[in-house]
Amino acid sequence: REQEYAATRSLPSVTRDGVPISIQLNCGLLIDLPHLAASGAEGIGLYRTEIPFMVRHTHPDVQQQTELYARVLDEAGDKPVLFRTLDVGGDKMLSYISAGAQENPALGWRAIRIGLDHPSLLRQQLRALLRAAAGRPLSVMFPMIAEVAEFDAARAILDLELRWLERRGAEPPSRVRVGTMIEVPSLLWQLPALLQRVDFLSVGSNDLMQYVFASDRGNPRTANRYDPLSPPMLTLLRRLVEASRDAGKPIGVCGEMAGRPLDAMTLIGLGFRSLSMAPQSVGPVKTMLRSLDVAALRKYLVQLTQGGDHSLRPKLRAFALDHGI
Ligand code: PEP
Ligand code: MG
Repeated sequence: REQEYAATRSLPSVTRDGVPISIQLNCGLLIDLPHLAASGAEGIGLYRTEIPFMVRHTHPDVQQQTELYARVLDEAGDKPVLFRTLDVGGDKMLSYISAGAQENPALGWRAIRIGLDHPSLLRQQLRALLRAAAGRPLSVMFPMIAEVAEFDAARAILDLELRWLERRGAEPPSRVRVGTMIEVPSLLWQLPALLQRVDFLSVGSNDLMQYVFASDRGNPRTANRYDPLSPPMLTLLRRLVEASRDAGKPIGVCGEMAGRPLDAMTLIGLGFRSLSMAPQSVGPVKTMLRSLDVAALRKYLVQLTQGGDHSLRPKLRAFALDHGI
């Protein structure tokens, strides 16, 4: 199978009925970057900036961060990189920032909440990203945004940094695209306002599952209790992809489900055209999608999501087998 997957590297990422699918990588360390060429992925759809912070004992300054992000962009070359700002807290605390004792860390002080409460942290990171991307395109997204006002506040900090850079005569990025992760369900009820503001959306299905089902992703008793391939989650995802398409804003999925072939198949059937995954998932997902007839699956999914099943996985697996996927 390894050889079979290696052989898919240079094959087009297009379904059997001709729908192009963008396959991107999830990365967080410089050592992940060689996978970009090796896997044939189109770009980095999620660069988790917290990973290098987690292994340090002191906070990297703007200069150190700038060098790091510039290296990521250098190594990615012509391929786009989507940086996510610091997503710490919950299960990913830094040794030098204390959140204090939190009874519900996943619902606690984490991600953009820390960034907005300590704007200097976010400002420094955004300044470093803007500097690193001088003269080239920059894409940034924020984690755990729960309401449009939080997106506006984070974006205002980015704009402030951009103006500061320009006042100092530094070269800005050639283009700045700003988006948000969809991880907190409250955002789903503000989609029209959100879609007016963002350049793109990215679904963090790991956290979205956790919050939609009120089911801790880190607890073995609850982590796999509910299935993303279930009527509630698929109905929600379909609504998201349709609203984004109507607004003309790109949307992708960067949670783990995008890297599991059956789940990825389902996401494509719902209308997603951009999936970001761990490097080892690229081969299996590409092999799956090259044998997929999207039109047939789309029709089947409409019927499936109206039922009361706990999980649609058995039926979707049967569909895949029946269709030679
Ligand atoms: C997610 O929540 O799906 C996601 C991609 O972010 P992380 O796994 O880093 O929380
Ligand atoms: Mg997340």
